Amino acid sequence: MAIATINPATGETLTTFEPLSEAALEERIARSAAAWAGYRLTTPEQRAGWLRAAADVLDGDLDRVGELMTLEMGKTLASAKAEAAKCAKALRYYAEHGPAMLRPQPADAGAVGAREAYVVHQPIGVILAVMPWNFPLWQAMRFAAPALMAGNVGLLKHASNVPQTALYLEEVFVRAGFPADVFQTLLIGSKEVERVLRDDRVAAATLTGSAPAGQSVASIAGDVLKPTVLELGGSDPFIVMPSAHLETAADVAVTSRCQNNGQSCISAKRFLVHADVAEEFTRIFAEKLAALTVGDPMAEDTQIGPLATEAGREDVERYVQDAVDKGATVVVGGQRPDGPGWYYPPTLVTGITPEMEMHTGEVFGPVAALYTVSGIDEAIEIANSHPYGLGANLWSEDEAERERFIRDVASGMAFVNGMVASFPELPFGGVKQSGYGRELTDVGMYEFMNAKTVWIGAPGSEQRAAHSAGSHAE
Ligand code: NAP
Repeated sequence: MAIATINPATGETLTTFEPLSEAALEERIARSAAAWAGYRLTTPEQRAGWLRAAADVLDGDLDRVGELMTLEMGKTLASAKAEAAKCAKALRYYAEHGPAMLRPQPADAGAVGAREAYVVHQPIGVILAVMPWNFPLWQAMRFAAPALMAGNVGLLKHASNVPQTALYLEEVFVRAGFPADVFQTLLIGSKEVERVLRDDRVAAATLTGSAPAGQSVASIAGDVLKPTVLELGGSDPFIVMPSAHLETAADVAVTSRCQNNGQSCISAKRFLVHADVAEEFTRIFAEKLAALTVGDPMAEDTQIGPLATEAGREDVERYVQDAVDKGATVVVGGQRPDGPGWYYPPTLVTGITPEMEMHTGEVFGPVAALYTVSGIDEAIEIANSHPYGLGANLWSEDEAERERFIRDVASGMAFVNGMVASFPELPFGGVKQSGYGRELTDVGMYEFMNAKTVWIGAPGSEQRAAHSAGSHAE
């Protein structure tokens, strides 16, 4: 894919970038490794100060970076600005809590025959981040804020359709005063990821994107024994039981399915609605979807902009056509509008069956697939029949249904009476083919840290005593 800014609202190519040459890429990696040698020795308090400065840079740039994101991938301007503000919040979260997360964690020294025993989390080096275009700032910041707090350094290979946002990210950290080269953007294609990941100076990789991209990175990383975190696709279930407040559930269903023009990994994509309320919920949901304003993402009253790429719209159309061919009903939407730009209307499809590709795929656009179910058992069975397991939503006032859902749904995140969302204060990630590892909180930061065990003996007999108790056997 060419590295270029193409406005999804018009289809016009605005700027094209030359990918880095091999010599330039080599130089960037060398600079990154050199930067880490010094950066790893900075204190958590120094790093927290730079993170706060980066948050201030972002807060001062909301209009500029908001417009850039809207231009490159078509999200509404209001949501782009909100995304930038959320990034500033995450930077401040790690600035505030990072130093405590990095303090040595004492262990029971007496139990291991030591005078002192503890675990200290240390940075591991240069981390490669391969990121998607859908939340072009937030996805990258979810990696960058904890990595830089930890004392690691970052190399960002961003999606090829958001090059200017990618370069802006590097600029944020430079303007915040971080030491040179601790965060660099590499304008490279996906084929160059292997070359970077195999480089001995690169310690680990994280990828957010599709399952095939994750498989590729994981297999290369496995070959060279480097740790990875994978945040892959999602087709989150949204279960509505009879005790749910239907109006509220439908409002949130619309937000969840249509946020970011329907292109979010944690969008609810499959709506599993109890038969007792299916007709009423479908009616309310359909009305609310049909009432959304689709149009120019720069305009203030627009709720849904275009899809990010032409290929993305074709994928969405294929899923809907396949479902219709196999007997599904389109209740709302389902037809691309005339005119320029990659627009697709909010769409509701009912009567989904397992033969349809929508049942096991991921529709990355504002298309809701609705199933009617007989109860919580069938809802969870269908929810878990999907290869992905990112988030899951339940709407119910019934305590037993909630407990069943939390215990049995196969997902990394389970939200009751609310929609799955990401917060710096909660771990984020999935199970099954949605990937592995977690982002955010201390859990996310420790993914790329060495939890080093430290044991310090006193001169004398403590360790011999421990050994005589048999604890030395390996
Ligand atoms: P994608 O095609 O996998 O691209 C994501 C990134 O991976 C891009 O930087 C891309 O580079 C790169 N890439 C693609 N193929 C690669 C390969 N074989 N080896 C190395 N790198 C490769 O995904 P997308 O279509 O942009 O994003 C949509 C997907 O991301 C959806 O499935 C969505 O659910 C998922 N997603 C998951 C999360 C999460 O947190 N779980 C969050 C957001 C999105 P190029 O652009 O140069 O091809």
